[in-house]
Amino acid sequence: MSNVYESWLAGLRETVKEVEPEEASRAAAGGSAVLIDIREQDEIASGSPRGATRIARGFLEMKIPALAASLDLPIYVICAAGSRSLAATDSLQSMGYRNVRSVKGGYGAWVKQGLPVETPLMLSGEERIRYSRHLKIPEVGEAGQLKLAASKVLLVGAGGLGCPAAYYLAAAGVGTIGLIDDDVVDRSNLQRQILHTDARVGKKKVDSARETLLALNPGIKCLTFDTRLSVSNAESIFKQFDIVLDGTDNFQARYLINDACVKLGIPNVHGAVFQFEGYATVFSPERHNGPCYRCLYPEAPPPELAPSCAEAGVLGVLPGVVGLLQAVEAIKLIIGIGKPLVGRMLSYDALNAEFSEYEAKRSHECPVCAINRESIQLQEVAPVCAL
Ligand SMILES: [Zn+2]
Repeated sequence: MSNVYESWLAGLRETVKEVEPEEASRAAAGGSAVLIDIREQDEIASGSPRGATRIARGFLEMKIPALAASLDLPIYVICAAGSRSLAATDSLQSMGYRNVRSVKGGYGAWVKQGLPVETPLMLSGEERIRYSRHLKIPEVGEAGQLKLAASKVLLVGAGGLGCPAAYYLAAAGVGTIGLIDDDVVDRSNLQRQILHTDARVGKKKVDSARETLLALNPGIKCLTFDTRLSVSNAESIFKQFDIVLDGTDNFQARYLINDACVKLGIPNVHGAVFQFEGYATVFSPERHNGPCYRCLYPEAPPPELAPSCAEAGVLGVLPGVVGLLQAVEAIKLIIGIGKPLVGRMLSYDALNAEFSEYEAKRSHECPVCAINRESIQLQEVAPVCAL
């Protein structure tokens, strides 16, 4: 029977152009051609031509139109030894692609000739199952999931906003979640701070939160900072992360978070809740040219006008809604999809079930984001209190 296969391959060689790996490498490096590695996941896991597009053979015909808009685009197809690529090239030709070539000898020859290779970052089998609902959304897909895995998000406050946000970020596969909080779990927290449990009353919030997050998703890292955010530690902690989620409820902390984020050029996903009302926005002057917190509120109100966490009541579910809005925005920023909540303050009135939006403009007179980032001086902060 092997003769049938051999003669079929011989037939393909009459209609398909084969090229040496070197030619494909040169063309792909030039940027005017695409090189498609059609091998399976487990084969690619140990190496693939550098810069190649990877589409498993079974999906080639389905996915090629999105990759090659023109039927004249030069396409080089590579497999392990140069046989599967013959059949794939033949198939692309029959679809109408006029400029397709098969790489002779496949990846084996490519490696033997010392051409550039890379080991692509890939999801494991377990991760493919865990994140399968993400992988089914083209805007996320494997590339988006890998971005989530590589991302580092810091939650300031493991409280009402930080808990739901961290829970879903962990579930979504954000690779590194940082938590900063120096508080211990109190029974009155449990009405909304869903990472903690009754049995953990009296334990450190960061330890309790970490335990719950890792139980949900053991594949992520959780860094804890059992400390009070201050002028002396804000920068050194923040710079280990790509995005900061502000889950604090006092003005002093908000200003410190804002100023440190602006100084380091890190987006600050902001949320706030009070009784039945919640607010969310993204402060990102550096990346999105949007406003920062001080563009809207240059200075803190006097203490007597600012409700503190101890006395402000809140409907327990509300920080869940707002914390998850923050988590959604963080995920969008990481993957780079959608329209971020920049320059817009989203407000949620739970009693009337109304969402409204206010424009938030960048100020050219802002004491923080309108000046040179290096010259920003962090100011002393009162204890961080997470609602
Ligand atoms: Zn500003």
